[in-house]
This record gives sequence, structure tokens and C-alpha cells, in this order.
Amino acid sequence: MEVLRAFAGEHGVRFSENFPLSRISRVGTKGAALFYFGILSEEGFLKVMSALVREGVPYRISGCGFNTLWGDAFFRGAVVDMSLLKGLSVKDGVLVASAGCSLSALVRFCVDSGLSGFEELAGIPGSVGASVVGNAGAFGRALGDLVEWVKVWIPHEGRCSVLKREEVAFSYRDSSLRGFVVLSAAFSFSFSDKQKVRQRVKEVLAERKRRFPAGRSLGSVFKNPEGDFAGKILDELGFKGLSLGKVRVSEKHANFILSEKDAVASDYLSLINKIKREVSLRRGIHLEEEIDYAGAFV
Ligand SMILES: Cc1cc2nc3c(=O)[nH]c(=O)nc-3n(C[C@H](O)[C@H](O)[C@H](O)COP(=O)(O)OP(=O)(O)OC[C@H]3O[C@@H](n4cnc5c(N)ncnc54)[C@H](O)[C@@H]3O)c2cc1C
Repeated sequence: MEVLRAFAGEHGVRFSENFPLSRISRVGTKGAALFYFGILSEEGFLKVMSALVREGVPYRISGCGFNTLWGDAFFRGAVVDMSLLKGLSVKDGVLVASAGCSLSALVRFCVDSGLSGFEELAGIPGSVGASVVGNAGAFGRALGDLVEWVKVWIPHEGRCSVLKREEVAFSYRDSSLRGFVVLSAAFSFSFSDKQKVRQRVKEVLAERKRRFPAGRSLGSVFKNPEGDFAGKILDELGFKGLSLGKVRVSEKHANFILSEKDAVASDYLSLINKIKREVSLRRGIHLEEEIDYAGAFV
């Protein structure tokens, strides 16, 4: 463990112990993690990962936390925070973004540079790394549609590899990259009129504001079942407004669970499980989470 503590003074990494997970949770948690590593460079990342593997310490990769429910119990492992690994540039005709670059920074860059392709992704919170792995998308456009290559770290081989787009399978909120760690990705784009790009982004943001609730949430909690919409099913079954402790199903969109400032993850999880049970009993549908779980639950 002393090997890990030595990262306290290491260039390219931020380190702390007994890290309160409320710092990275978007909906509240009482949990903490044994170690926290904030990754500032690829070299730093590689050093951290080889130390964690060598020491046999379990770890969890984190982006901006907008799709993850962190448990309330103590996680005897390390959080590897990729959201600090920034970088965005146009190189050789593609847009190259580091894993920690936010989608909003990417869309802003495209608006300012007159690059088209990403407009429909405006307003999706989160990091490039998580959004490539989860193939984030909206309004008929998914990030995977634009991927040219992805640089990943392969845990079981302990090495990096650059995968071409034909080597990666993207599907609805999923990809074959699960289990890998994304370090950076390159995306295709087309040149367009700046004003046109800005206008489309404005329309998308206005539509999101109209459809989705404001407040602390993880976005859509459940994936849409084949040929149906999770939000519609939950609305029909009367879940809007259902609450437990400091969390409640949004009145505006039944697939969003909102949390108050001092909410805990166990209430969020209990509400999810209650909804899943009832939907299964009343509709015979097995809802699958779009969100991920991390850390340890009580
Ligand atoms: C209000 C709101 C609206 C939303 N709307 C949409 C929407 O319209 N469309 C949509 O698709 N999603 C939407 N989401 C969900 C969320 O924005 C996306 O899932 C986004 O990709 C999450 O990015 P993140 O960095 O916050 O992920 P995190 O929660 O940090 O991580 C998500 C998962 O990815 C893993 N991960 C993180 N970084 C990496 C990496 N570098 N390499 C490998 N794995 C990694 C984590 O371990 C975790 O399992 C919404 C969320 C909110 C809160």
C-alpha cells in the first residue's frame, strides 16, 4: 500500500485517501473510497494502473459521474478519476478528444469552429470516455456514429491499443469497449456554417429543456425496452411523483429520478428496485438499468 501512498507527490496524478464519494456522486451518497487517483496525464494513468494491479487493489474508473450510482458503504478500493484528463484538437482531419473532455466542451468547440456532426449531442452531460463506451446519444445521433478510432487501455493485457472504428461494435447505449479504459478518441466531422451549427445546437438545447427535468439526476434510469419507451410505461403505471426519502420520480419525465442535496444512494436504489418489481408484476417487462452501479452498497 505504501507504493500507492507514494502517489501523493507524483506529477500527473492527484491522490487522496478515505475519499468521500459525495465529491463525485451526482445524486448523493454516504460512501467513501480507500483511495482516489485523479488522472492528469496518460503517463500518470499507466503508472497508477500498474501499481493498482501489482498491489491487487480493486478499482473503479470514473468520468463525470452523471451515469453512476455510488453506493453508501465503504469501498475498499480505488477511484480512478478520468475527468481531469483534458485535451481537444483537430489533427489529420479528425477531432481528437481526451477521455476527460466533457461533451459540452466538445460541442462548444464545434460551434466555435463550425464543425458539424455533434449538434444533437448538445446538452448531454458527461465525459468523452464514458460516452464513447456507453454510446451516448440523443435525437437519432449517437457518439459511436462519429468514432474514427479509440485509444484504450486493456486491463488483462496491461497495455494500450488504438482500435479502428471497424474494430468496435456500437449498439443502443452500449459498445464492445466495456471492460476497457478509454484514454482518447477521434471523431469525424464535416465543415459547416458556424451560424447553422449554433442554431441547431440552440434548438436541441431548447428541446431538451422542454422534455427533461432540471435538478440532480442520472438522466434516464432505465433503457427503453424493445419497441417501447421506459418513461411512457412508468408514466402509465403512475410512478410520477413517487418518492422515497430524499429521492423522487420526476413529475416531468417518469424515467428520471431526482434527488435532493442530502439524499443517499440506498434510497435511490430502493426506488429503482421497487419500480422494477412493479413493472415486472404489472406489465411482465424486465426493465434494465441505463445507469451503472459503483462502489459498495449497504
Ligand atoms: C440530466 C441528464 C441527461 C442525460 N441525457 C442523456 C442523453 O440524452 N443521452 C445519453 O446517452 N445519456 C444521457 N445521460 C447520461 C450521461 O450523460 C451519459 O451516460 C454520459 O456518457 C455519462 O458520462 P460520465 O462521464 O458522467 O459517466 P460516468 O458516470 O462517470 O461513468 C459511466 C460509466 O462509464 C465508465 N467510464 C467512465 N469513464 C470511462 C473511461 N474513460 N473509459 C472506460 N469507462 C469509463 C464508468 O466506470 C461507468 O461505468 C444524461 C444524464 C443526465 C444527468
